[in-house]
Amino acid sequence: MVSRPRHSFTRKPNLADVKAAGHDMLRLVNRRILLSIVSDRQPISRAEIAKISGLNKATISTITSELLKDSCIIEEGFGRTTPIGGKPPTPLRLNSRRFGLFGVDIRADETILALSDFNNRIVARVSYETGSDAPAFLSRLGKEIRKLRAKHDSFIEFPGIGVSLPGLVDNHRGKFLISVVLPWRDVPVVQLLEKSTGLPVIIDNSARCSALAEIWHGKAQYAHVRNLLYVSVSTGLACGVVIDGGLYRGGNNTAGQFGHIPIDLSGSECRCGQRGCWDLYASDKATLKRYAELRTTNGKRVSTMRKLIELVDGGDPAATEAVRETARYLGIGITGLINGLDPEVVVIGGEITKVWGVIEPIIVEQTKRNLLAPRSHGVAIRPSAFEVRPSLKGAITLIQNSLLSVPHMG
Ligand SMILES: [Zn+2]
Repeated sequence: MVSRPRHSFTRKPNLADVKAAGHDMLRLVNRRILLSIVSDRQPISRAEIAKISGLNKATISTITSELLKDSCIIEEGFGRTTPIGGKPPTPLRLNSRRFGLFGVDIRADETILALSDFNNRIVARVSYETGSDAPAFLSRLGKEIRKLRAKHDSFIEFPGIGVSLPGLVDNHRGKFLISVVLPWRDVPVVQLLEKSTGLPVIIDNSARCSALAEIWHGKAQYAHVRNLLYVSVSTGLACGVVIDGGLYRGGNNTAGQFGHIPIDLSGSECRCGQRGCWDLYASDKATLKRYAELRTTNGKRVSTMRKLIELVDGGDPAATEAVRETARYLGIGITGLINGLDPEVVVIGGEITKVWGVIEPIIVEQTKRNLLAPRSHGVAIRPSAFEVRPSLKGAITLIQNSLLSVPHMG
């Protein structure tokens, strides 16, 4: 019998920036794996961690001692004894006060600033109207972050601020490039916010932040998936792609703009310069436009998706048909992406998911009709796990991810 290696890797070592697996790197990886296991399964004993991780007990003991010393974890019920006097296994938990994580969700109309503990509980949340003058707005935001930091001084450390932005974001260079909903252009968000707060800042676009939130904190049924596609349905249409547990950012850091794949070459012109982009048929803007066309003379005028959803809930036929048509187009685009990416789950986020009962059967039917591989019929299509602002959760997750994610080695 041929014995095959357990892992079949496909990643070519990065020879331009070699990261050899030295002792420090291995220690960091094991430490983060262990912290992630505690975060996921707490309270958990050392023996259970050994079973899950495959690490030996001595290594577990060394790492947990370090993490206890560093206040990252705590022992639960410290000092208890069993009825026969023996020492029970002491379960471990994350120390929620170890890190205070800032998340900022910037949207066209409103910005939310939140502070979360290390256990993902939001301890403070403030909202502001988003300003059109980016430097002035970010300076004000910086001041608010400094205030919150002073008020919540029981946290041992503030490792950084995660920022979700609505548009094209170059995560690597720390810049917000352009958006159709926000009149900011080429804004060095990281530089400005780091200057005013003195804290490290990580930015990304809202669809990619939301995708990250789903794999770290999504509902139990898909919290452990490795390959996920997040479709953000908002004024525009954007996606976040998770491949083998990591966010795919692309060669120029702007990956995920699947909204600009043309689905009708004779369609109308899109702001990106092409014709008939998916965005023109399945975004909120498209749904509102469709409703305006279908609306009868006595039908209500609406300008927001929230209002349109209320009409659907109230049984308005034009509003319902507008949403159903969007669901068909969502299904068409998602089918293509499932064929190309083969995700385990597709998560849809946005106001339109509030009428999930109306859109789900249409999207599922569409994907079933078009899929190449019969096996892909089982791909789960779900609404976001977070009813309120997945991108805020995602902004906080950017920082959590920087503390717990494991590096690419080699
Ligand atoms: Zn386009």
